[in-house]
Amino acid sequence: MLEVIFLGTGGIMPNKERNVPSIALRYEGEIILWDVGEGTLRQLNTAKLSPMRIEKIFITHFHGDHYLGLMSLIQTMTLWNREKPLHIYGPKYTFEFIQNYLKSGFFAPSFEIHVHELGEARLKFGDYEIWSFKVEHGIPALGYVFKEKDKRGNFNLEKIRELGLKPGPWMKELELKGKIEINGRTIYLEDVTGERRRGVKVVYTGDTEPCKRIELFSERADLLIYEATYLTGEERGESYHSTVSEACEVAKKAKVKLLALFHRAPRYKYDEYLQKAEQLCNHKFIVPKDFDRISFKGESYELSSIR
Ligand SMILES: [Zn+2]
Ligand SMILES: [Zn+2]
Repeated sequence: MLEVIFLGTGGIMPNKERNVPSIALRYEGEIILWDVGEGTLRQLNTAKLSPMRIEKIFITHFHGDHYLGLMSLIQTMTLWNREKPLHIYGPKYTFEFIQNYLKSGFFAPSFEIHVHELGEARLKFGDYEIWSFKVEHGIPALGYVFKEKDKRGNFNLEKIRELGLKPGPWMKELELKGKIEINGRTIYLEDVTGERRRGVKVVYTGDTEPCKRIELFSERADLLIYEATYLTGEERGESYHSTVSEACEVAKKAKVKLLALFHRAPRYKYDEYLQKAEQLCNHKFIVPKDFDRISFKGESYELSSIR
């Protein structure tokens, strides 16, 4: 099961209501972080998520609100004698920035840090993949996709009977091999199982102005976390950010199940932003607060808060 936990939902700088970007993905005991803004360690503690369980951190770009929480996280892991390596992924220059960043202060990590610079990549990890795609933010910047592997359907007794077979130990063998011979006939796993279940797909844009690639990578996503820093184009001005209407348009075109409007500028109060977003967007959306959680169960999801 995948849980998406919003640790920080505001853009640019923290305010009383919300912290800067960080999203935790909890999947099969592992925690993956998408961005690690200043104060992420405190948010993790409040959410009762152990930093020791984090194996991979994906940074969208090197603006302070997206990575300045990394140092306190690494120092705390060291304080707790972490030995397990940590993998940090990010766009071009990640290696240089992390190297310089770690040179400050009287401290050395107690564990290995592996830095991976990505362009557009497809990384495979067990039951899921992470894809990176380039976005438009005036500097090297990436968006990320979490894609769970599609799961095969359950054994279907009717199909088994139609083939003149009876349930038995052969099913285990078939599950392992994908196909087996029974009485001189080849039986494929698909012959006796139900429809495949699509794995969960979650997309995070990071900071960006609208670009075609977001729509391509978000196709039929269960959740699209889109930066909608501003309510209107006038308020955005010349900055490389997006508006609520632009995020909404992409969610509709890409047939996304649920849109999360993220990275809201500090000037907006929650209720004011939500009200205006309701007028501007006619697709299914939420405006997540810090510590809101989305739990995916098969084809459906559940919203809750862990504050
Ligand atoms: Zn930002
Ligand atoms: Zn930025």
